[in-house]
Amino acid sequence: MAENLNLFTSTQEVIREALTKMGYDESVYELMKEPLRLLTVRMPVRMDDGTTRVFTGYRAQHNDSVGPTKGGVRFHPDVDEEEVKALSMWMTLKCGIVDLPYGGGKGGIICDPRTMSMGELERLSRAYVRAISQIVGPTKDIPAPDVYTNSQIMAWMMDEYSRIDEFNSPGFITGKPIVLGGSQGREKATAQGVTICIEQAAKKRGISIQGARVVVQGFGNAGSFLAKFMHDAGAKVIAISDAHGAIHDPNGLDIDYLLDRRDSFGTVTTLFENTLTNSELLEIECDILVPAAVSNQITAQNVDRINASIIVEAANGPTTLEATKRLNERDILLVPDVLASAGGVTVSYFEWVQNNQGYYWTEEEVNEKLEKKIVSAFNQVYDLAHSRKVNMRLAAYMVGARKSAEASKFRGWV
Ligand code: GLU
Repeated sequence: MAENLNLFTSTQEVIREALTKMGYDESVYELMKEPLRLLTVRMPVRMDDGTTRVFTGYRAQHNDSVGPTKGGVRFHPDVDEEEVKALSMWMTLKCGIVDLPYGGGKGGIICDPRTMSMGELERLSRAYVRAISQIVGPTKDIPAPDVYTNSQIMAWMMDEYSRIDEFNSPGFITGKPIVLGGSQGREKATAQGVTICIEQAAKKRGISIQGARVVVQGFGNAGSFLAKFMHDAGAKVIAISDAHGAIHDPNGLDIDYLLDRRDSFGTVTTLFENTLTNSELLEIECDILVPAAVSNQITAQNVDRINASIIVEAANGPTTLEATKRLNERDILLVPDVLASAGGVTVSYFEWVQNNQGYYWTEEEVNEKLEKKIVSAFNQVYDLAHSRKVNMRLAAYMVGARKSAEASKFRGWV
């Protein structure tokens, strides 16, 4: 049978397994196998050349039994309905794993921001907020950054929402610039969360970060900050990649130089000759492999050639279910995406709390709170994987789905 590379159906498969293992009946799965709401919007936007283009966007709200839904908005040519639905389900899992009072949501717009001007991006961002304004809000559904969206886009969206709401509404969206109510530490939060997971996993495997060989696939927000954190902690980052290729140096790369030369979309390898491919990068022998780029990178095709002790998934869905099983059989410790990449939404939650109380924390306070949340989530998942003899992905789904399943039951929905 061909391997399942469909993120939506493979997510459903693991949710079903997780709920069954916890003893929930079919009705709970029926509720959780799809988002409760999915809004599709079409947005006419005036382009710089005077023409009008109509863009399509989505907002999915998976489950709001625990509290408002929460999750980013991605701007990408490959966005589609199924991807947004799967990503909203992952947000429920992430929020459950780090124990936030939220359910999962996600949005996306089919567009290529790399070819758009700032003016066009601003008009599109504002049009999206107008289009989804009735179903979002600080106590309903709180957007945030995701692939190819950033704090400037969050600022335009917050401003547009505040005009509609006729009220300054910083709690409508997270990932804002600091002067507009953003949180210290939010920009680096995803990479910070991945780093904490790496430290915990390395501890379990008796690997010292000092001198550990690290390979990072992807040099976007998560990948680039992570490479820097690992480098600063004394690890040897021996290979990194972007969408165009990979570079490798067994003695460790000069990460500060690469960060300095990277463009805002994370491209840097085009400056080098003799680059490797992304699939060659994955097979480099190392201690810690961090896929921080796109989905379906470690599959049944290449899993047996993976040469790492620990894999920490900073991207969404980089490893297929078949590959997950094989890695587990080979005793390679896999820290799944829904746990490893939960640092972003955790600090988004802190940002929302600070907006609600109007009192702001220092970066040290934020990092300390983040560390506590991620360490406790990691240990909960790790211990459950051992006590129930399941792989880390299934254990993470069990921890992640439990809160929404229970809340839905208490509310009398199922
Ligand atoms: N887009 C990020 C994620 O997928 C962050 C979501 C948020 O901060 O709400 O986890």
